[in-house]
Amino acid sequence: MSSSDNAARCPSPVVSSADVLLVSISQEELMNSGHAMPEGKFCPICCLPIALPTGQHSVLKPCCTKPVCHGCLMASELAGMGDLCPYCRTPRPDSSAAGLALIQKRVDARDPAAMSLLADEYQFGTHGLQKNIPRAIKLWTDAAQLGDLGAHFNLGYAYYLGGSHSMGTVEQDKAKGILHWQHAAIKGHHASRFVLGNLEFDDGNDELAVQHFMISTKMGDEDSLNMIKDMFMEGFTTRSKYAEALKGYQRALEETETTQRAEAKAYYKNGNDHDEDNNGG
Ligand SMILES: [Zn+2]
Ligand SMILES: [Zn+2]
Repeated sequence: MSSSDNAARCPSPVVSSADVLLVSISQEELMNSGHAMPEGKFCPICCLPIALPTGQHSVLKPCCTKPVCHGCLMASELAGMGDLCPYCRTPRPDSSAAGLALIQKRVDARDPAAMSLLADEYQFGTHGLQKNIPRAIKLWTDAAQLGDLGAHFNLGYAYYLGGSHSMGTVEQDKAKGILHWQHAAIKGHHASRFVLGNLEFDDGNDELAVQHFMISTKMGDEDSLNMIKDMFMEGFTTRSKYAEALKGYQRALEETETTQRAEAKAYYKNGNDHDEDNNGG
């Protein structure tokens, strides 16, 4: 892949309409859309996709809510710029409160990724925040309406599981939960695709399950690959499907690999610490 290809592929923010949650999705649309990685899974500096799970290969910066890959992070540190965000050059926050203030600033600017990030903090009561599930649900809902896929994913669980979940303030509504996962899946959210595959598998719809898992496998999702492998071992799908999955997974992985990222892996393994403000999900 040439650098000009990368520049052309470097994604720009997309905001979807506010009534997205009301729209149901046809089976055809569900299976034919969302086969490519969404913008949130690309490093904004090198413009290459980040390997899944992205939280293990990138750092989500609270200043700009961009996931900077470890390769670009290392390059910035080696250039003596370790105290600045490699993307937007904001000084690194020196406390949890300062980090939260940066996220809040992005929330005030209606950045859906920041809303989703703040919701995650309220869900677990992290970085000095009091756990507040209703606040998290409100923030995820706002973020989902602005197109944040992780927010859809979390709302999927909140509604699907309802009162039986730690997010117990939500009344159970399985159909609504599934709709949230579907809306994320058609935009390329691999984890939502994986959940939908599992639901089909549980319902005995093996062929649909494999179709879902195949899509997320080809984005580089190892869990989905393992599901296809298990289904093959147990006779629920064919050897050729498993071979297709393996090949697709490998190709996705190769697209995320660069010399710089390989060097960063060794660099951080050797005790150099990268900042862990937040992970990339
Ligand atoms: Zn990068
Ligand atoms: Zn930044």
